[in-house]
Amino acid sequence: MSLLVTGTIGIDTLHAPTGEASGVLGGSCAYFAAAASQLTPVRVVGAVGGDWPEAHERQLRAFRNICLDGLERRANSQTFAWGGRYFDNMNRRETLFTRLGVLEEAPPKVPAKYLDSRTVFLANSHPLVQLDLLRQFKDRPFAVCDTMDLWINIARPELMQLLSEVDGVIMNDEEAMQLTECRNVVTAGRQVLANGPRSFVVVKKGEHGAILIHRDGVASVPAFPADLAQVVDPTGAGDTFAGGFMAHVARAGRNDFDTLRHAMAWGTVLASFTIEAFGLERLARLDAGQVDDRFRAFRAMTAFDAHR
Ligand code: AMP
Repeated sequence: MSLLVTGTIGIDTLHAPTGEASGVLGGSCAYFAAAASQLTPVRVVGAVGGDWPEAHERQLRAFRNICLDGLERRANSQTFAWGGRYFDNMNRRETLFTRLGVLEEAPPKVPAKYLDSRTVFLANSHPLVQLDLLRQFKDRPFAVCDTMDLWINIARPELMQLLSEVDGVIMNDEEAMQLTECRNVVTAGRQVLANGPRSFVVVKKGEHGAILIHRDGVASVPAFPADLAQVVDPTGAGDTFAGGFMAHVARAGRNDFDTLRHAMAWGTVLASFTIEAFGLERLARLDAGQVDDRFRAFRAMTAFDAHR
């Protein structure tokens, strides 16, 4: 089942206790695609401006399995840019600036040859851009979205509309609680599901793993255990979780509860690599053997036998 993603492709500036990175390749769509491409081919729909560096384009092209035919280059526009700073324990961060750039313009168009995509991820972006993309498909694909505090604050009605048109949403615990005003993540997830997506909500809890709240059941996975020494830059962990999750759904060709439960494990494994280096560095030098080895290790850590 072909996988398509839209979201931000941007220029990030990161400050962490482990170091700094200025003007690096980032954006929700870039992280998602880099992770998903480790498991299955992925089609990218997005837009960048005249300031988009050649080097970033090369870096993205170096991922085999990412198709960039849906990337619009707009000479007179500005690329999305974001800056963030992590606090000491790396679990929390603050946004220093967000420059919307191309996000304030007409959304990118899905190329005709991509319209047969059956699995679609609307990575973090303005909900109107996400809605516009989804509505370009005549045959409704299996569609999942992400969101962020900024959009809950400035575009809540549009976000609620988006949620009512997708199959699932992947969001973090703070966002789920902000959206619903519930103080418990499971209750918040259930409430999001009651008011929105057709099938499921995944609530990510950072170093505490993720919960799947589905109309057919509930499942939970821990995070892959990492000690602080291994965490260099958590940026993109959420997007790469989504990349591994959706790539597994696309390659399985199914989207039932049990497939989504397994997809959470693949998302967790991919996210555990992202945080080991700044930006997309770690994903750029990842190979299938390393992914499979870590998946096996994760399965061994989380499997239980009823009879022992
Ligand atoms: P994550 O750490 O998974 O939340 O994703 C971080 C990435 O999301 C960075 O590369 C940013 O460029 C991008 N980003 C930050 N804020 C936004 C936003 N409001 N909308 C879309 N993408 C964003």
